[in-house]
Amino acid sequence: METSVFDSWDREHLWHPYTSTIDPLPTYKVTGASGCELTLADGRRLIYGMSSWWCVIHGYNNPRINAAAKAQIDAFSHVMFGGLTHEPAIRLGRMLLEAAPPSMHNVFYADSGSVAVEVAMKMAVQAAVSASGSHDKTDFATIRSGYHGDTWNAMSVCDPVTGMHGAFGGALPVRKFVPQPRSRFDGEFDPADLAPVEQLFERESDRLAAFILEPIVQGAGGMWFYHPEYLRGLRRLCDRYGILLIFDEIATGFWRTGRMFAWEHAGVEPDIMCIGKGLTAGYMTMSAVLTTRAVADTISRGEAGVLMHGPTFMANPLACAVAVESLRMLNEQDMAGRVARLQQTMTEGLAPARELPGVADVRVLGSIGVIEMREPVDVGEFQKRCVELGVWIRPFGRNVYIMPPYVITDEQLQRLMQAMLQLVS
Ligand code: PMP
Repeated sequence: METSVFDSWDREHLWHPYTSTIDPLPTYKVTGASGCELTLADGRRLIYGMSSWWCVIHGYNNPRINAAAKAQIDAFSHVMFGGLTHEPAIRLGRMLLEAAPPSMHNVFYADSGSVAVEVAMKMAVQAAVSASGSHDKTDFATIRSGYHGDTWNAMSVCDPVTGMHGAFGGALPVRKFVPQPRSRFDGEFDPADLAPVEQLFERESDRLAAFILEPIVQGAGGMWFYHPEYLRGLRRLCDRYGILLIFDEIATGFWRTGRMFAWEHAGVEPDIMCIGKGLTAGYMTMSAVLTTRAVADTISRGEAGVLMHGPTFMANPLACAVAVESLRMLNEQDMAGRVARLQQTMTEGLAPARELPGVADVRVLGSIGVIEMREPVDVGEFQKRCVELGVWIRPFGRNVYIMPPYVITDEQLQRLMQAMLQLVS
């Protein structure tokens, strides 16, 4: 029987995310996961606050999703999507369009969140060039403190300071950044937030294909919740200057912010929308890019006549079958009520952190609870203490945050928050 949670071969050879190979942060071996708990190799159980980075919305080892995956394996696990189609892809596409903004009309399946962002950016360039007839209309604008993934173009629109630009320097395309909107989600809207966007569009609209951002919640780059009016103003400006609007709903989708998708808080629709993470309930990797008929048809009327993308595992039937079952489960529940209760519990439970000297801010939206510290957190030390307290939380920068699976029990959530308060004290 396994007793150690640390594996020396893993430490020597396996590259874990954002960790040095010379002095890697410790990694703890998991042997099981169920509901909202992880089991470590030494038998210890941890309440898991991270939903495996936003995606495990129904908890681990869900019997219905397990059954859907097994049934699809017995039918067929994969076929190419070039020239072939299948029921899981069709069913999922229908369900997604029913849940998406009404103007969404075409669905492109991709492999991961980052690839969805690449696809969305390719769509925007092909559509902008086709519509304008100008090969200069290929650049992108975004807000500071965003995060959109780790592939090349996705990196180029991540925050230039906290994101990837430092490591890759001049190798990355230089995008146009405007300041992060500072009007809080739950505060007054300051129209000054939009002034830099208008100034930028005034100067650069001939060169900008699209503006990309995470609607309402900036995730890994900032854990910041901004005012819905910003999106309404941005939509107006994009329309006025002929710039496409891309919403990256990869983290915010599937009820994480209290709505099925975060655009609903503002009531404005994007031209292109990326979804991923919770799409497959954390079972496997898949994403999708949704767009309007106008964008899709403009691309099809362009020089290439087609969207230039077609990954091997496009519309993987296993992933589609899992996603269909996950969406059914969401549709059968009162998700708005469920997430509103989580929001209420977290708002009350995390409030005492406001009094702590090291804490700069506390904010909760939907099932996301954030304690922003004044100083960056030592991740290795923090996680060691997490394991001692029987929880798993992974801070990033100055933010200590949780976004638990929606199946978390009240008792588990209370224990998670108590541990969080203890860890930031
Ligand atoms: N966009 C956002 C908003 C994300 O949070 C992430 C992942 N953290 C991505 C894109 C990239 O997704 P993936 O890691 O699946 O490539």
